[in-house]
Amino acid sequence: MNNPKRIYPAILVAVIVFTGLFTGFRTDIKNTFRADATVNSPMVFPALKDVKVNDNFWGPKLKLWNDVTVPDLFDKFEGKYEPESRPDLLREYKTLGRSRDAFRNFDLVAQGIRGSSQKLHDGPPWHDGLVYETIRGASDMLIQFPDKKTEERIDKYIDRIEAAQNSEGDGYINTYTMLVEPEHRWGLNGGFERYQHDVYNSGALMEAAVHYYIATGKTKLLNIAVKCANNICRVMGPAPKLNIIPGHALPEEAIMKLYRLFKDNPVLKNQIAEKVNEEDYYKMAEFWIESRGNNCGLPVWNVWSQKDCEKWIKDNTYSGPQYGDHSRPSWGLYNQDSVPFFQQITIEGHAVRATLFGACVATVALENEDPRYTEVASSLWDNMAGRRMHITGGCGSYRYEEMFGSDYVLPNDGYLETCAAVGSAFFSARMAELHGDGKYFDAFERSLYNNILSGISLSGDHYSYENPLTGEGVTRWSWHSCPCCPPMFLKIAGELPRYIYSEKNNSLYVNLFIGSEAKIKLNDGQNVMVRQTTKYPWEGNISINIEPETNLAFSVRIRIPGWAQSVENPYGLYSSEVKSKATVRVNGKKTALKISEGYADITRLWKKGDVIELKLPMEPRFVYANEKAANLTGMTVVASGPVVYGLEGLDNQNLNVCNIDIESPLIISFEKDMLNGVNIIKGKTVVRNGVKSDFIAVPFFAINNRMPGNAFKVWMPVLK
Ligand SMILES: [Zn+2]
Repeated sequence: MNNPKRIYPAILVAVIVFTGLFTGFRTDIKNTFRADATVNSPMVFPALKDVKVNDNFWGPKLKLWNDVTVPDLFDKFEGKYEPESRPDLLREYKTLGRSRDAFRNFDLVAQGIRGSSQKLHDGPPWHDGLVYETIRGASDMLIQFPDKKTEERIDKYIDRIEAAQNSEGDGYINTYTMLVEPEHRWGLNGGFERYQHDVYNSGALMEAAVHYYIATGKTKLLNIAVKCANNICRVMGPAPKLNIIPGHALPEEAIMKLYRLFKDNPVLKNQIAEKVNEEDYYKMAEFWIESRGNNCGLPVWNVWSQKDCEKWIKDNTYSGPQYGDHSRPSWGLYNQDSVPFFQQITIEGHAVRATLFGACVATVALENEDPRYTEVASSLWDNMAGRRMHITGGCGSYRYEEMFGSDYVLPNDGYLETCAAVGSAFFSARMAELHGDGKYFDAFERSLYNNILSGISLSGDHYSYENPLTGEGVTRWSWHSCPCCPPMFLKIAGELPRYIYSEKNNSLYVNLFIGSEAKIKLNDGQNVMVRQTTKYPWEGNISINIEPETNLAFSVRIRIPGWAQSVENPYGLYSSEVKSKATVRVNGKKTALKISEGYADITRLWKKGDVIELKLPMEPRFVYANEKAANLTGMTVVASGPVVYGLEGLDNQNLNVCNIDIESPLIISFEKDMLNGVNIIKGKTVVRNGVKSDFIAVPFFAINNRMPGNAFKVWMPVLK
């Protein structure tokens, strides 16, 4: 999330400044990718209710996350956790004997308490947003796993949220600001929105409301969200309204969801107490995006100290007459606010904000089809995937400001927050919607099976914030003073079934290999049932049953991952080779692969009972990095399919001195009793004096489950 008070070694800052990271977004056009500015017909994902997952790999995980993770998050937000995991509360716990409760914030606000000492508010200012995000994730889970108990629990939370909002009357709600600094709504009058998260929390509320409505048909939370959105639309916008943008991206996409919900269901407005003018929401999303970089240019975040910048903002200096009457401070590179939106080319700043901002831009581009939006979205995505994404799909190299590094800066001890990998996957999914190219789901899958899945323990109740590629003493925690990652994890877990299939130009797309059945509506109104059976990612055989209502001619387009074509990364950031090829059979008959834009196209007259059998080359492979990633020269990673592997000290006593012998074969085997059943990869290393020994590699996502904190490495030196 963010923590402006963190202090990091000056030397790192000096190095980063020296390397020019803070010079703003590059304008070095010739050195950037050509962005695709056109949108044809977008990809359409099915509704969650139309997809059922029954997969060997994902099925038990989704059930665990529903049964264990959802109640675990709600419990912990209620304060039921070991206070040792909240150093900020430990002293209070020791004197008062209790931990704290995020929902109590709403109750205190409802009681009319304002401007109390900060101690009354539990958690960081974005705690409301995290509660809403958990409601959103839990709502999606309710669709796969209907559960009256969870629904009742959420309904009771909603009553408390409503009471808090009603205590003010105009729709505004942010418990931190109300309890601690009520005179600073939206960060005005000496406040600091980037820290207060007023707009971010409001956005998360809108998103939760839309998802909860879709899951249950209940409108109470939607009413709360509409009041909040209407208030925002009264306050913010082009002059004479206020130039306020989210200090953390997310509300731009959230308010678009609210817009789409009412646009698609106008009668729903009859169930809303306040007047809904959804066009206002759409305009607000565009305003928030296009106002990036529209600030008074100060404070200079990369030159002044954090303290000086905050003071300058809190002194309200930006409202001075020299900045005009419609100005605001700059939220800097950190919040994608240092360069005017339409000039942004590279993905910069706080990695969670940056990836979610990309998702927001793509969301609006899907609606307005403005080529300038699609061009920016494509530039940001290409830069992320082609130069700044770690092999595990992780984003955000630096602990300092939790930010993206420069091109090809991919340190093994990178920060790689779970939230940033989730943000990048949401961004990739939106780009797939825009352009329908397989490279977007290649990146989505890389994030999903590696840096996202590593964010949760196999037990479903411990979480990671950072996901570095090497370390010792790295463990997942039960709870955290900034518990942003578990709700973000739950959001993508809940939405995952939607992404398996899609429709575009009357073709049925298979994006992910997850055992499931779904009803997909083609453009011409015909429904097609699709059933997938597979043991992916442990095996490469995928059986896809196509069942139209009547015999029907259309295309089925199946993603053939880049790695299966020896294209590890579309821009050469990573390279690898598989010896065998992907093959497809239709009703038992081998069919030539016609791949375009990352998908194999099978066009024919489909009838009930038709079966496609896809075989992907899951043979283990060595992956190498582009030579421009200097720290990865002479290193390799072991992978199979979408799963990246790492070595743990537990299995490899000579971890720190072994060099991988890439001439020796890699042997893959399924170990049913290990880590809930995983493939492991064995190979040869040379320890010293030419003495060979075996190494064992396990999936990166499962590292630190058997012996939390043991040493591990993903990139290993190659024996020369
Ligand atoms: Zn996080």
